[in-house]
Amino acid sequence: MKASREYRIAFRGLSDGSHDFHWEVGKSFFESDPDSGIRDASISVDMTLTKSNRLFELNFVIKGRLTVGCDRCLDDLELGLDINHPLIVRESERGEESNDDILFITSSDYELDMAQIVYELILLSMPMRKVHDDGQCNEEMMERFKDIIVDEAEEDL
Ligand SMILES: [Zn+2]
Repeated sequence: MKASREYRIAFRGLSDGSHDFHWEVGKSFFESDPDSGIRDASISVDMTLTKSNRLFELNFVIKGRLTVGCDRCLDDLELGLDINHPLIVRESERGEESNDDILFITSSDYELDMAQIVYELILLSMPMRKVHDDGQCNEEMMERFKDIIVDEAEEDL
């Protein structure tokens, strides 16, 4: 995940009311985490931050597409993204655990790192099983994959 300054919001300095943010998320956003399995991405993120006293409400609208590997044939599989996710940010000194719906910060925090939040929202939205529709898998890739498995089995003998 790209830990770039552009995703950090110095929220203390914002006035009360609504503030709109926009980011374009591409392939490079995921490159520092090879485990994400994301091969390509073209995603737009719109976030509205509504600030009032000690409470913030964030609303994320994330749309676009991701390319991952198909679990069955390993060929590229494109997934559409259409996420609409509200998140409450609340100041608390009691060490409560943040979750998908609420993010706790302390009075010493002065920045919010949106990259981490956006990254998690995208990963959470992906299906557990990522496969092409029936009959849409790349037969050639599956044939090749099958040969590799057979070769490995023969080497073991
Ligand atoms: Zn497939």
